Amino acid sequence: MNCDSDVKMISVEEAIEAVLSVAKRRPPVTVPIYESLGKILAQDVISRDPLPPYRASIKDGYAVLASDGPGEYPVITESRAGNDGIGVTVTPGTIAYVTTGGPIPDGSDAVVQVEDAIVGSTSDDLKRVQILKSVSQGCDIRPVGSDIAQGEVVLKSGEQVGAAEIGLMAALGVTNVKVYPTPKIAVLSTGDELVEPTNESLNRGQIRDSNRAMLLAAAIHQQCKVLDLGIVRDDEKEIQRVFDQAFSSGIDILLSSGGVSMGDRDYVRPLLEKRGKLYFHKVFMKPGKPITFAEVLPGSTENSVGSKILAFGLPGNPVSCLVCYHLFVVPTIRHLFGWTHPHLPRIHARLKQSIKADPVRPEFHRATVYWESDGSKNSGFVAESTGHQISSRLLSMKSANALLELPATGNLIPAGTYVPAILISDLSCTAVTRSLPTPNSVCITQESAPNKADVGKLEESGVRVAILTVSDTVASGAGPDRSGPRAVSVVNSSSEKLGGAKVITTAVVLDEIPRIKEFLERWSDVDKMDLILTLGGTGFSPRDVTPEATKEVIQKETPGLQHVMMQESLKVTPFAVLSRSVAGIRGSTLIINMPGNPNAVAECMEALLPSLKHALKQIKGDKTEKHPKHIPHAQATPTNTWEHSYNKAAAGVVEETCSCSH
Ligand code: AMP
Ligand code: MG
Repeated sequence: MNCDSDVKMISVEEAIEAVLSVAKRRPPVTVPIYESLGKILAQDVISRDPLPPYRASIKDGYAVLASDGPGEYPVITESRAGNDGIGVTVTPGTIAYVTTGGPIPDGSDAVVQVEDAIVGSTSDDLKRVQILKSVSQGCDIRPVGSDIAQGEVVLKSGEQVGAAEIGLMAALGVTNVKVYPTPKIAVLSTGDELVEPTNESLNRGQIRDSNRAMLLAAAIHQQCKVLDLGIVRDDEKEIQRVFDQAFSSGIDILLSSGGVSMGDRDYVRPLLEKRGKLYFHKVFMKPGKPITFAEVLPGSTENSVGSKILAFGLPGNPVSCLVCYHLFVVPTIRHLFGWTHPHLPRIHARLKQSIKADPVRPEFHRATVYWESDGSKNSGFVAESTGHQISSRLLSMKSANALLELPATGNLIPAGTYVPAILISDLSCTAVTRSLPTPNSVCITQESAPNKADVGKLEESGVRVAILTVSDTVASGAGPDRSGPRAVSVVNSSSEKLGGAKVITTAVVLDEIPRIKEFLERWSDVDKMDLILTLGGTGFSPRDVTPEATKEVIQKETPGLQHVMMQESLKVTPFAVLSRSVAGIRGSTLIINMPGNPNAVAECMEALLPSLKHALKQIKGDKTEKHPKHIPHAQATPTNTWEHSYNKAAAGVVEETCSCSH
């Protein structure tokens, strides 16, 4: 990472790491437990009592001696929750009435639920009850400490306090707890064109300030304390004055928006640079390229001494402003709040529509993610674009609960492709509307995910292709899938040479044999794919198991294809010899392992193209399909001994002995 003032553009990951490396937590504070909701614990919480504190009944019923068995017994006492039948011991031939949660009277060792008992006569003032079933010792009794043992660490430092955690602390008699303090955030907007939202009419050149209301709301949503510093004109002195005011007010974070691009009145960056240490001012991303981050020393007020201020100059365009807030500020807030893993979570979601990726910058495409269930294994998260993505159109953030991480390929990413989705709101709070993007959405084509009808059409003509990215990193959301989209575009651009090939489906799985097999089997046997390409997991590292999974599902190996891929890859890197790729046939599906490297995928496809169309037709039983014209081995120009002998074998020449060592 470059920390100089003439910083170059850095990646989003580098920018987040830079911010997190600077962010320092304030010391923990002790608060009443009801104020700890949503906060992160800065202490362990240990149970001082066992729970339950006494043997408690799980059911309404009768406390018995298990060895007595069925029969009629007198009820010698009653033990209700909160009202112990204390002092009375259940002896053989007697029972006691108990309610759920009531203490189990001494002597008894099991409970028979009321449903398995009939109340009978009363004699000698004692009710008699017929026990219908025999039960084993301990039946329907919660032993002392069976829920929580005495001395058990119930909550750990670093855990977030939710309703259940508050309930636990209440149960254990913990009334105050240490947590990390609430970050304080000041928000201001810069711009001569800005007026308060209360302005009913606008003069030419004026717009209402939306960023400040939005950022204040976003910070409140993150449970922060906020300070509204209003609108500041594009005037160097004025901005400096308000910054100084902010830096002396005990805040942890300053959020200003606007004035960070290349305009002649964009003063935010130089002013922050003057007051502190500038870490970056451009991030390689779309939207939001101009974002400034600096660490500033506080002013001299009492409560601000010692704590540095994290100052963000967010872009003025509202979408860029909010996207940058989510990507950079939310992890910072979480870190200050004490989160151990402050990064935004990722999931994989299937694209509802095709999306054209930006050719230059990685894009964070706004989308609504929801669970789509079709009652089959295809159920999963679907991502629906919020439409036209220009950075001034705040409507693209409306209902967006995810930012789709799209690599800068410039390619059309087909509907149905799984992409990483960074969650920017709690999925459980998402009220999903399934409206499709507006027709003027320039980045969206109306291609839909493959449904039954599409599948049928394709069955008659063309080659059905499925692409499986095998990668722990991608599957766990720790990194974007670069190979999958690349393979899709390679297949699509070679469609004609492959006899009308079309990618029907893609998926990402962990490097685990059962998961890989599950996809290979389903795509071959149920979805009747003609060609499955797996990407990755073919190397020597312990988690690389794609060839093993493939070998378990294929019925015939096709080593020639592996050989051709190896030959091609060796032209690029000597490390190609480390590929353990396998290819083979299952039913009428050809399965080929390809390397995980996006460029290698393209090279391997290129190498396979001349033979693949014929191979696929042959697999389908097309007898008219002949081998491509043979080149006699004598005319072939071998590049090494191994290839030479291989060409002979391929041409039907059997060598008596093989003396070469390979
Ligand atoms: P700037 O970053 O100041 O060059 O602004 C880029 C664009 O965002 C311009 O079209 C501004 O009018 C707009 N913009 C800047 N600040 C705000 C704001 N607070 N609310 C709405 N739009 C803004
Ligand atoms: Mg401006």
